Amino acid sequence: METIYDLVIIGGGPAGVAAGVYSARKKIQTLFITENFRGQSAVSGEIQNWIGEISIAGADLARKLENHLKHYAKDIEIREGEIVTEIKKTDNSFTIITNKNSYQAKTILIATGSVRKKIQIPGATEYEGKGITYCATCDGPMFSDMAVAVIGGGNSAFESASQLLAYAKSVTILQRSDFRAEKIMIDKILSNPKAKGITNIDLLEIKGDKFVKAIIYKDKASGEIVELPIQGIFVEIGANPSVAFIENGLVKLNNKEEIIIDQKTQKTSTAGIWSAGDCTDGLYKQNNIAVGDAVKAIEDIYRYLKN
Ligand code: NDP
Repeated sequence: METIYDLVIIGGGPAGVAAGVYSARKKIQTLFITENFRGQSAVSGEIQNWIGEISIAGADLARKLENHLKHYAKDIEIREGEIVTEIKKTDNSFTIITNKNSYQAKTILIATGSVRKKIQIPGATEYEGKGITYCATCDGPMFSDMAVAVIGGGNSAFESASQLLAYAKSVTILQRSDFRAEKIMIDKILSNPKAKGITNIDLLEIKGDKFVKAIIYKDKASGEIVELPIQGIFVEIGANPSVAFIENGLVKLNNKEEIIIDQKTQKTSTAGIWSAGDCTDGLYKQNNIAVGDAVKAIEDIYRYLKN
């Protein structure tokens, strides 16, 4: 007879791993499904606010999380390399369909995180990989002594700018409204003579020949159109929740496609399904928060299963 798991956890980022460690320790019969153990922060060069580590590379944090979960391998079944494509609700359980298998579960925790948003202006698709990139850590060194721009005004944009200042000749941060990153980070970056911040603009077009040569924007206040010569563009404009497998109103989503959760318990709108981390409508997206929220979810799932 097919196993009906007490819990299926989906996602191998900080939220999923925290949930996995807690559920294993509580001996909840759990199946853990993830495509990989590379949460979004895996590409961060340096993370300075993961509590307990003054500084850690994103890849090292991802590895530590994976090791922590796998330490409990005898108490939790881990399926790596599987992607959930659909979840069907039946009377008393859920069917979780992946690219390889299908599973039954009494409860589900969705911790699938989010994926990076792409810039959509003329030239953006054409020049992707030809000067436009979405990863400062991966591609920054290729832009040594060049003039580069970062698009976005959040913490990711400033983190990328910080990395790029080590290589580039100049780094211009282009933001459509005001900067929203932590003030300490904004002040630190903009005090570097190689950095410049430009706010309240409309990005219009990316131009070049074989490679990017310039970005064109309009100053919203003056209406002036500016052509900024640059050789690299790093896009950091946020992320979209990874919820493609959620169909037919399985759980309620908000207008940003984030899973609506009860902030006290992480319950979704559907009994038996919880969610934690960047795929939810939680206001602040942080590794530390994702982990705490996932723990909250497991406490609530444990209670639900015991009743
Ligand atoms: P955010 O959503 O915080 O910021 C995205 C930025 O991109 C905003 O400034 C936004 O402008 C701009 N933007 C969005 N869409 C477009 C578009 N289509 N065209 C141009 N600009 C656009 O995303 P982040 O990736 O920076 O951060 C995500 C979360 O992760 C945040 O909670 C952040 O604090 C956290 N984080 C924390 C870090 C840390 O603490 N070390 C490091 C990195 C991220 P607007 O403001 O006008 O909407």
